[in-house]
Amino acid sequence: MTATLIDGKAFAAGLRERIAGHTAAMKERGITPGLAVVLVGEDPASQVYVRSKGKQTRETGMNSFEHRLPTDTPEAELLALIEQLNEDPSVNGILVQLPLPGHMDEAAVINAIRPEKDVDGFHILNVGRLATGQKSMVPCTPLGSLMLLRDHLGSLSGKSAVVIGRSNIVGKPMAQLLLRDSATVTIAHSRTQNLPDLCRGADILVAAVGRPHFVKGDWIKPGATVIDVGINRTDDGLVGDVDFAAASQVAGAITPVPGGVGPMTIACLLANTLTATARANGLPDPE
Ligand code: NDP
Repeated sequence: MTATLIDGKAFAAGLRERIAGHTAAMKERGITPGLAVVLVGEDPASQVYVRSKGKQTRETGMNSFEHRLPTDTPEAELLALIEQLNEDPSVNGILVQLPLPGHMDEAAVINAIRPEKDVDGFHILNVGRLATGQKSMVPCTPLGSLMLLRDHLGSLSGKSAVVIGRSNIVGKPMAQLLLRDSATVTIAHSRTQNLPDLCRGADILVAAVGRPHFVKGDWIKPGATVIDVGINRTDDGLVGDVDFAAASQVAGAITPVPGGVGPMTIACLLANTLTATARANGLPDPE
């Protein structure tokens, strides 16, 4: 292996420590940040995520509120809960764990969250604010990926970036963030032609595809920085979207799976909750 390993686990631990420090300082002023997580249904992966979100929220010193609803909950009931959380001053952040059961309109549910409390950054106003360069809540996984990129590369200005994946939760906001940092951004997806060649031109390659070992070693530009967002459960355990063994012989730096982007996501959720709390109390955004 020649690439530098980008240690998201260590970076996330440092970030959580900074958040805990800010939280302690806020508590001295009588403000305790609070994050409400809503889980509808029994999806096993979602249950794991919600548990670790609650645990890390409490470890940082914030209040964690968990709401579990049965799969067959009528949408109106979920919307009523969201409204209650919108109005609750002890709740600074609201996260509705996705995916929702099929009978619910995901967009309607997300857009019911007050944008200032939308710590996932999926509300249409936050999406629009990010796209137009206004202060917003930024989706956690792309935000965490950006932090790792900035930490490793410093300025991203003028760098050529390829993002594989155009989902609303990863690919599109990732591209927006890279653009905001003045990278030259290409978004690739399942209809993209000559993807390997496109990737070979990328100084920064972000893979958010959801296919194990999809990106091959010979797609990587020598010295490139590779961010592997993929989390794929296989017989060999958790693997990313990048063929790590091959890519790490060519890349300049690469995130492992697990231990790369994954730990950054919850840390950024806590960071967003802290930011939402600061804004709600007229304080500057925490650094
Ligand atoms: P989606 O399934 O919503 O999006 C996948 C994207 O990959 C789509 O845009 C799709 O294109 C594209 N794609 C699929 N096949 C190909 C192909 N053959 N060539 C090029 N592009 C292709 O996934 P998500 O964005 O939600 O997640 C992506 C990955 O990131 C998953 O592995 C997920 O588990 C992981 N993830 C990790 C998180 C973390 O905390 N680290 C958080 C969120 C997700 P098209 O639009 O044309 O269909």
